Amino acid sequence: MDAVAELIEMTLVINGVARETRGRIEVEDPATGQVFATVADATLADLDDAFAAAAAAQPGWAARSHADRVAMLRDVGRRLEEHTDELASLLTHEQGKPLANARGEVGTVLRWIAALSEYDLEPEVIERTEEKIVELRREPIGVIAAITPWNVPLGLASWKFVPALLAGNTMVLKPSPFTPVATARLGELVADILPPGVLTVITGGDELGAAMTQHPIPRKVTMTGSVETGRKVSVAAGRELKRVTLELGGNDPAIVLPDADVADIAPRLFTAAFANNGQVCTAIKRIYAHDDVYEELVAALAAIAAETVVGNGFDDGVRLGPLANEAQRDRVEMLVDDAARNGARVASGGRRIDRDGYFYEPTIVADLSSGTELETQEQFGPALPVIRYRHVDEAVERANAGDYGLGASVWGTDTDAAAAVAGRLEAGTVWVNAHLALSPTLPFGGHKHSGLGVENGRLGLHEYTRVRVVHLPITKPGTV
Ligand code: NAD
Repeated sequence: MDAVAELIEMTLVINGVARETRGRIEVEDPATGQVFATVADATLADLDDAFAAAAAAQPGWAARSHADRVAMLRDVGRRLEEHTDELASLLTHEQGKPLANARGEVGTVLRWIAALSEYDLEPEVIERTEEKIVELRREPIGVIAAITPWNVPLGLASWKFVPALLAGNTMVLKPSPFTPVATARLGELVADILPPGVLTVITGGDELGAAMTQHPIPRKVTMTGSVETGRKVSVAAGRELKRVTLELGGNDPAIVLPDADVADIAPRLFTAAFANNGQVCTAIKRIYAHDDVYEELVAALAAIAAETVVGNGFDDGVRLGPLANEAQRDRVEMLVDDAARNGARVASGGRRIDRDGYFYEPTIVADLSSGTELETQEQFGPALPVIRYRHVDEAVERANAGDYGLGASVWGTDTDAAAAVAGRLEAGTVWVNAHLALSPTLPFGGHKHSGLGVENGRLGLHEYTRVRVVHLPITKPGTV
């Protein structure tokens, strides 16, 4: 185990200069329940200074060539790679994920930098006549406010700062108060590569996030988190007509068809549901399994859950860590207890684990009554409901019920038939015989209340630009 000898204390760095703050936020290690670090609780004056620095830096950053910005982002990637062990350790301490997964998360940041750096933002000719050409140019928006959640702190930050900076914007980035440490360290590590003010990490509570959305300087807010917060961000940003990109919650369904090969898919379904202990926006949150394969699937998933090693993410062989915070553990517990009280069968797990920290057994819940909250709400934790259906229309209807529409998948041996069912699902991403496969080159966004706009891919990069249409006359030889 990687014990922290001394409390880690992070300082704010604004405009390239470290500054003291009186207020501190204590950060717990969810595997022990002990405070292992503190970060600055930034004031509104700190926020003003951060936005002022971002505004001052933006024109110079935008005036650099795209190749220059790419080169600096690649330097950022190299610096972060050199510090993989340190950043991964901070992630495991603050979020709970096993160290190998935390290293994978640092790898995500590097992959995002590498892939998005390949895109250019050259003007496009969109109309050409004998008299004129019309170009579409993509310009930076200006200063961006970015707000991230606690499940994948560095990975989701990179989905924002990489495209925003590549497109010539500057950014003030606020991580979740539950997991601010690795992101604050990222801010320190890149401070001597990027010009002051280009990327500022500011730490504080939810109210600091709210202040960011109301601040006059940023022209866009990009936020990943819950639907409830997304709604508040959208309202606040709307008052000043700021642009928004919102990546919000999901309650992703997976439909298992009667011809599915249960032995083959059960481990893959389990992985896609329990990745990061179920704390992934587009993890499988509910399975609809046909009656023909239902009992076999429940038994297979329950067997995998029972043998899954849960523990401190620094210990060897651990597959799932704790929940990332106490409130989330309590929520998962409440949802499972509620399902059981309403007649559901807990096929595996179903209890908190009796040790320090916020651990909960990997849990498979079968035979839920219709309308149970474990089916209709996002649990965001290690408790997977498996729901029986007899006709595929019933599965599609239940999968599409509710306001979420992030991801969805269909599993079966006849992939054409599975694809036809997938075509009926209301979600921003649908998979056949897969789930949770994300990549820097694939646009990702939610339908319905799961989000506004997309991140990733060329479309995601374009969301950090505003469009200018330029009409240019063609001068004919001999004319003036
Ligand atoms: P959250 O909404 O509580 O917090 C997210 C961030 O918003 C935090 O930094 C928080 O401090 C800030 N915030 C809180 N109130 C605010 C306000 N009024 N104005 C501005 N900012 C405010 O979410 P969470 O609990 O940290 O994360 C879990 C949620 O995030 C889940 O619903 C999950 O599905 C979702 N999520 C979505 C995606 C995606 O890409 N769609 C990815 C990961 C997580």
